[in-house]
Amino acid sequence: MKTIKLFLAGALLIAAMPAGAQNICAHRGFWKCKEAHKTQNSIASLRLAQENEFWGSEFDVHLTADDVIVVNHDPSLNGIPIHTSTYAKLLETKLKNGESIPTLDQYIEQGTKSDCVMVLEIKPQDTEERTLQLTSACMEALKRHDMLDPKRVMFISFSYAACEWIARELPEFTNQYLSGDKDPETVHASGINGIDYHYIAFYRHPDWVERAHKLGMSVNVWTVDCKKVMRYVRDLGVDAITTNKPLVAREIMSKSK
Ligand code: MG
Repeated sequence: MKTIKLFLAGALLIAAMPAGAQNICAHRGFWKCKEAHKTQNSIASLRLAQENEFWGSEFDVHLTADDVIVVNHDPSLNGIPIHTSTYAKLLETKLKNGESIPTLDQYIEQGTKSDCVMVLEIKPQDTEERTLQLTSACMEALKRHDMLDPKRVMFISFSYAACEWIARELPEFTNQYLSGDKDPETVHASGINGIDYHYIAFYRHPDWVERAHKLGMSVNVWTVDCKKVMRYVRDLGVDAITTNKPLVAREIMSKSK
């Protein structure tokens, strides 16, 4: 019975994460380069990740006070808190490379232009209610662009509530919890089908990769920028690394032990 259950868990994990593959995800787009004018989470950074044919491109979303989803890492833009600001107010500030802060709709529109998987990080908002509103609104935005597809998008979040919501509503999607404070069995028991932990968690708990895989979960790791750590997590058999140095990672991850 146990074997059947494990098989079913594995079979469900078809989504965006090819089993056993070691994929490279550009952290906040491929942004630490002159072509993107070093502007994270910009349309230019996503476009560069696509042009370089990385497996995935990670980005972060927040909800404005007037319920527009914007792509930004920090909860504020040039000192303006996003959750108390209107979208129009945010447009008064430009990103470093001259772009306006992208809406999720604009970001997805760019995302439709290649097979690069959109790794969407749902940022915890000021209340859990707003975080879940953001989660649900992200799904609506993806639907509008015909991108609510487990092969084209996957979800990550520090909000356990957001991960549980996705596990309940969209169990076919790769859905990874980010905090690193729970073992794979605990996360799996909540119905969440993946973990994406900081690499330090895998130095502390190297057995978590294998334990998660036994449960049919996907395992990603962030943010891996040094070659030594790239080799370490590669040899542990993680499914994907998120990195600010995806070209270096390409060289390291393609080699075996
Ligand atoms: Mg992020």
